[in-house]
Amino acid sequence: MDQQELETFFRSLDRSFFLENDMKKHANIDQPLPIGFGQTISQPSLVLEMTLLLAPEKDSKVLEIGTGSGFQTAILAKLAKEVFTVERIKELMEKAKKRLEALNFFNVYYKVGDGSKGLPENAPYDRIMVTAAARVLPDELVNQLATGGRMVIPIGPPNLQELKLITKTADGGIHMETVEMVRFVELKGQYGWKE
Ligand code: SAM
Repeated sequence: MDQQELETFFRSLDRSFFLENDMKKHANIDQPLPIGFGQTISQPSLVLEMTLLLAPEKDSKVLEIGTGSGFQTAILAKLAKEVFTVERIKELMEKAKKRLEALNFFNVYYKVGDGSKGLPENAPYDRIMVTAAARVLPDELVNQLATGGRMVIPIGPPNLQELKLITKTADGGIHMETVEMVRFVELKGQYGWKE
């Protein structure tokens, strides 16, 4: 799928479907919005930008940390072969799963738990998307990234983070570049911020 096709699919995806009733009317605003439990659905323009940076291919195996509403998951599931998505809040995961199944995405595997440790049982992953702010780059995620793989992750303190694009080179080296400043909710857990 090229960029234009991605943008067409992106525009066709009804963001209100991923929101609770009281928030649906705000779906078209290019801002993060509450999804309950102190969490947010990300700003659409940032979701698109992070997806383009991640650049999943149709045979990619993707790990997503922070399922949230399932909006980003749907885009990854459309682009990639399979998506392993991890969310620490069971209620959010259950709602996201229902939405994605209603949209006929059956290439998504769901795990409730601490995604700061990744999901070692299905590693390595060609792509890793982290949609919560990490304290540091979790070694576990780097270890689970395939050679030639790409990871997009916000790293930094709760108020403002650097959005990083990490690539694992053919010799296993790590290349890290800062794309821009962003603001995400905290990645909690063993390799994240304290619960
Ligand atoms: N991409 C999501 C969407 O499209 O709705 C938004 C994700 S929201 C900004 C971040 C999510 O990360 C929250 O749902 C939060 O519960 C989750 N999260 C935070 N720490 C986590 C962890 N250690 N493991 C898994 N999920 C985590």
